[in-house]
Amino acid sequence: MNIDTKARAVGCMIGAAYGDALGAPVEFMSYEEIVAKHGAEGIDVPDVRWEGLPPGIITDDTQMAMATANGILDSPGQGDVLENIFKRYLEWREYIRHNRRGAGKTCRESLDSGVMGTIEKPLNEGKGCGGVMRAHPVGIAFRESPERAFEIGMRSGAITHGTPEAYVPSGVIASIVSHIFFGATLEGAAKMALVQAENLGEEKSRETVNFLKMALDAATDQAVQTIHDKLSVPNATMKGGGWLGYDALAIGLYAARVSLDDPVKAVKIAVNHSGDSDSTGDITGAMMGAIFGPEPFLKELDKTGIALEHREELISMGERLAIWQP
Ligand SMILES: [Mg+2]
Repeated sequence: MNIDTKARAVGCMIGAAYGDALGAPVEFMSYEEIVAKHGAEGIDVPDVRWEGLPPGIITDDTQMAMATANGILDSPGQGDVLENIFKRYLEWREYIRHNRRGAGKTCRESLDSGVMGTIEKPLNEGKGCGGVMRAHPVGIAFRESPERAFEIGMRSGAITHGTPEAYVPSGVIASIVSHIFFGATLEGAAKMALVQAENLGEEKSRETVNFLKMALDAATDQAVQTIHDKLSVPNATMKGGGWLGYDALAIGLYAARVSLDDPVKAVKIAVNHSGDSDSTGDITGAMMGAIFGPEPFLKELDKTGIALEHREELISMGERLAIWQP
């Protein structure tokens, strides 16, 4: 497979958005409910989530990933990347007052404060996956330095989420994507990112490291829901898992691992479980898109006749990120 930088970048943006759109209709459903509605194989074509909107609609995950991408693209010669990402998040916060798309509470409230969160000055106790779901563009942009991808990825998460359980996974996904651009296998990329997380020390990296190891060690022939149950942090208020930064990352990585030669199937695995399906689909799609490029996802969309929202914009963003230099 001969995939160039542009195809990887576009694939990462499109794959993540595809996963978000496929997972959106089943985000708050249990596995049993998904199977009851979509059959034993689960959902396999992006369906309607919000009444009045067509299938293929993306959620806050892709909106925020696009804001991350735009913040980076604003940046050459124009100051700090993180400041610009923050400005784009503030812009997104205004936009979603009219177009909410399931935006998470931590993201909304932290941006409402008008203060940019940092690792040194955390804004809140947020552990959610709102950072990790939007950090893959950082990995594209900083593809030549996995160290910077990890650091900027973490800091982009800390803009809204104050705990290492949220921002370390944001660094890990950015690092995994950057390592893939370097030609690493998924497994190799994940292991290198794992070491980066470990180097932060146990206090900061414990959960992320433990869950990454579980995702890497899990036998690939286990029933999908079984492994989702194992990788999920039980949440008293919501069904299933993938709601927190580190379990969303682990489920996303696991789904990619079990379908290494079929990116569309990997995303399908990532969304068909009890929990935060759009975010886990987004994470798997980002990894698999960086490996395979956009074609498998675009072909699937063409085959099913689904119009992925922002499709052309996402392609353009990927193309511009592919030539962006820090
Ligand atoms: Mg969402």
